[in-house]
Amino acid sequence: MSTLVWLRRDLRLHDHAALATALAGEGAIQPVFVFDSEILARFDNKEDRRLTFIAGALCNIDVELKKRGGRLLVFHGKPTTIIPRVAKALDAHTIVSAADFEPATIARDNAVKAALHDKARFVQVLDHLLQDPRTMLKKDGTPYKVFTPFYKQCWRPSIHEADMGEWTVNDSGRYAKHTVVGGALNLSSPKHLLEQVGYVHRDDPEWSVTDGQARLKDFIADHLAPYKTQRDFMARHGTSRLGPYLRHGLISIREAMRAAVEKGHGEAWIGELGWREFYTAILTHFPHVVDKEFQEHYRELPWRSDAKTLAAFKTGMTGYPVVDAAVRELTSTGWMHNRARMITASFFTKHLLMDWRIGEEFFAQYLMDYELASNNGGWQWSASTGTDAQPYFRVFNPVLQSKKFDAGGDYIRAYVPELANLSDKDIHAPWESKNPPANYPKPIVDHAAARARVLETFKRARSL
Ligand code: FAD
Repeated sequence: MSTLVWLRRDLRLHDHAALATALAGEGAIQPVFVFDSEILARFDNKEDRRLTFIAGALCNIDVELKKRGGRLLVFHGKPTTIIPRVAKALDAHTIVSAADFEPATIARDNAVKAALHDKARFVQVLDHLLQDPRTMLKKDGTPYKVFTPFYKQCWRPSIHEADMGEWTVNDSGRYAKHTVVGGALNLSSPKHLLEQVGYVHRDDPEWSVTDGQARLKDFIADHLAPYKTQRDFMARHGTSRLGPYLRHGLISIREAMRAAVEKGHGEAWIGELGWREFYTAILTHFPHVVDKEFQEHYRELPWRSDAKTLAAFKTGMTGYPVVDAAVRELTSTGWMHNRARMITASFFTKHLLMDWRIGEEFFAQYLMDYELASNNGGWQWSASTGTDAQPYFRVFNPVLQSKKFDAGGDYIRAYVPELANLSDKDIHAPWESKNPPANYPKPIVDHAAARARVLETFKRARSL
């Protein structure tokens, strides 16, 4: 008899709810990961850097498990057939995984549960959030729709020491030994592992899988206190860049929260962890946001469709330097600063009047920290269609945003080399300079005209 621990967003071996729960029971533990072929079908860039990140994390886990007498089993295919098959082969009576709140994942997990052999129990535990979004409700039992009361009245006061406490993994001698199950992939290296899944390994020192702890430590020591005043400046090291490590669980949300609370002066940053849980709660209680506007009166907005404009946006050639820098940062590094995400998503939905779903999918294809709840929340916030979104008449002026949050033009210079020689004054709006570079486009839309167009469009939608 054994327990199968199904790893998903919890790619580590410490402070681990599923492992600790399995270890509290009896029998040998067998950790398993599945590259879900249905999820991967959406990501057809064979050099997707997220896959390298995940493969690196899995190989490290395998190395660690081997030191403890076990090994990791990794498969590629449909979890709905693989997990029940492996559970049966291992004679696993319990399957433990961390709960996930994405609608498609909930459906998948239900299908896995239904397909398990007779005696098997499927147990889900809370791991990647500090609070279970299903319990984050108002006094009248309905879900919150606005962040501030969610945060102040419910989420923040509900987090006590126990919620931040470590799920200690006392695992000596408990891992299943010499497990052999057909179809398990070879974990001799991340490169070799990826080859078996059809992806290419790429060296990416910026996103090293062994960096998580050091990043957290460095951020807490030097950047937590100034976070509130530094977080918006796109060229500065003002935010933690822990997103990918939290997304895939290389560090635990509890250790991040504990570190911030212990250090003190971390409330501004903890507020952002609150947004992460707020958007997951929105997705949990209002799953239709996946493909529909949260606000009903904006469901018929006449989004524009124009292949040439879309191509200019996606290649960072809109003529607005800060927007182009942000898009090029995303496509060349897998990252985009939060302020740049806000400016870019606002530009896409307001200036270009293009459908937030298209922008959301574009980000999803590249972001190292991509996750449905926060990406959807961020896009619907920017488009003013979401819950607690910015009002529709708030249209970011990309030039003013650029002057305010990248005054010296360092962010633009890093990603738009065509503009590198412009002065700090001219770089934000090169078309106004005496010598605009010939190899950089003029703005594809005029700010004032685009602003008037979007205001009129939203006003009309509200009056229908
Ligand atoms: P820090 O500023 O150091 O914050 C710490 C952590 O808090 C982050 O790692 C993240 O987990 C969480 N967080 C911070 N801000 C937010 C926020 N506004 N909403 C939700 N969680 C937050 N975040 C994602 O994790 N995945 C996404 O796919 C994603 N897409 C976005 C799309 C748009 C259009 C916008 C406007 C925002 C998006 N965000 C997303 C939120 C935010 O931009 C990132 O979480 C943040 O930039 C990550 O940088 P960091 O790790 O340095 O965060």
